[in-house]
Parts: sequence; structure tokens; C-alpha cells
Amino acid sequence: MSSSRRSPAGVATRLWRNGPLPESGDTSAGCLRREFLLTAAGAAAGAAAQAGGLTAGEVVERIRKNVGVPWRAETVDTFKAGGPDTPVKGIATTMMATFDVVKKAAAAGRNLVITHEPTFYNHEDKTADLAGDATWRAKDEFLRANNMAVFRFHDHWHAHRPDGINQGMTEELDWTRRADAGDPRLFHFDGLTLDGLAREMKSRLKIRAMRVVGDPALRVRTAAANWGYASQAGGIRALSRKDVDALIVGESREWEVVEYAADCVTAGQGKGLIVLGHIVSEQAGMKYCARWLKGFVSEVPVEFVAAQEPFWTPA
Ligand SMILES: [Zn+2]
Repeated sequence: MSSSRRSPAGVATRLWRNGPLPESGDTSAGCLRREFLLTAAGAAAGAAAQAGGLTAGEVVERIRKNVGVPWRAETVDTFKAGGPDTPVKGIATTMMATFDVVKKAAAAGRNLVITHEPTFYNHEDKTADLAGDATWRAKDEFLRANNMAVFRFHDHWHAHRPDGINQGMTEELDWTRRADAGDPRLFHFDGLTLDGLAREMKSRLKIRAMRVVGDPALRVRTAAANWGYASQAGGIRALSRKDVDALIVGESREWEVVEYAADCVTAGQGKGLIVLGHIVSEQAGMKYCARWLKGFVSEVPVEFVAAQEPFWTPA
């Protein structure tokens, strides 16, 4: 159990979630009501914010109004925990709502997590097959016990113009001046080597475990970035372009785009592939998302919580 569940603010939050309390009758309800009034009075800032009534649904409504593209009928951008009625004490944006991120957000009093990637290990966040799983249960129970809501912000953050992820990554890498005027996912260099490009990305994005395919001495004049997952068709299309020397991806199947990249090398095409890892390849886009949200959410704190790169390599 977390400390925030036992806190006065936590008690108040749970009662709010249960809707209006009965005016009279049941004694235990009466006790709860008195407890609520007392604790709400005592939990100054937190309760005041809740009394202001900012709910997770209202935050999402503002996102919909500000994102600049029509909201899709079919989308994964929905609540994965909690719901629109969850009172918001603070907001954490993150690349992936891992259990570690969720715990960090709770400890900081950010009970609305806005995540780019799934919470429960598949694109649609289906949990039916996880019902008996101890890890899923621990995470699910933690989210409930701490009155948290998790909302996924994936499709519409990419559809936003500029693409929120590309914008954040470009800024983090300090590549704004390198971005192609017509295609912001192409970046131009003065013949940097593939090794030099990989090292620059490793150091600016603070990556522990990245992988590269191709000749380290290859001269890269133009690199195409596919942040996140690169599909077979998209990855091959980008890497086969005459004007692209290197493709940067978060992840891609090793028997599809990675094999294609290796074959490009064998065929003498002079290509390189940099595999950053999915989290680190989109992370800065959700850092930028926190800044963007602050433009229209001022009642509660908004901060970015970094998801940990899961990989390490032996020295
Ligand atoms: Zn993405």
C-alpha cells in the first residue's frame, strides 16, 4: 500500500470518485462524510485543487481542442486506467507508462499519467489474457490504490503538426538546423561518418545500448528518422531512397528491415541502419508534450517523467 492512499488527500479522492454521499441514514456513510469534510479541510492544497474540480476528462477535452486535428473515431488514445471522472492532482507525461514510471508519478503526486506507448504490453492494452498474471495485478492494483488515471496519447500526438514526437526529438538532438525544409524527418549532415552520427545520438540521448548496421566509416549526408517502430514496408522504403544514406529507427524486426539493411551493405549500396531502442527514440517527444500541455493546463503541476531505457550491455 502506498502512503498516499493513507493520506487525507487520498481519502478525499476516493470519496469524490464514489459520487455524492447520502445526506442521511446509514451511520457509516455519515461517518465517512464527516471524515471527508475534516480531511478535505486539512489537506489544504491538494483538496483545494480537487475542489477546483479539474478531472482527467477535462484535461483530455483540452487536449482534443488544442491538438489541431480532428479526433479519430478509431484510436488507441483512450483511458487505460482510471477514467474521465478521476480528480487530477498533477500530470506526468511519459514515453511509456511502465510500473516504474507509474510509481515515480505517484510519489510526486502526479496521478494522471499521459503515456505515448501502452500500459499493458500490447497496442490495444487488452488485459483479458493477463487476468491471472501477478505482475499485471500488482500494477493494476497500484494504479487503483493510488487513484491514478492513465491516458494514452499516441495517434493524435503524431498527427499534430508538427508531429509532437519528431519535434521533441529534433530539439533534444539539437538538429533543428539539420532538418529538411520539405520533410522534417530527413536530416542533412556534412558527410559525418556513420560511427560519428551514432556516437552523437548515443551521447545526446544518453543511450546505454544501441546497435548499428553498416560500415562505421560510411559518409552520411542524409539520414531518415523513423522514431519508434519501423514497419517492414516503411523501413525498406526509407532505406532504399537514393538520397538516404542512413535510417534511424527505434526498433524494427531483425528478419525484416535489419536483414534488408545487412543486404544493402553486401550489395554495395552504401547504407547504414541505427537502432536506438524504442523508448529512447521517442522519449523527448513526451518531454516536449509536458511543455505543450502547460500552455493550456495551469491548475495542477505538469511534468515529464522519463521512462528508463530497459537494456544494458555487458562491459
Ligand atoms: Zn510514437
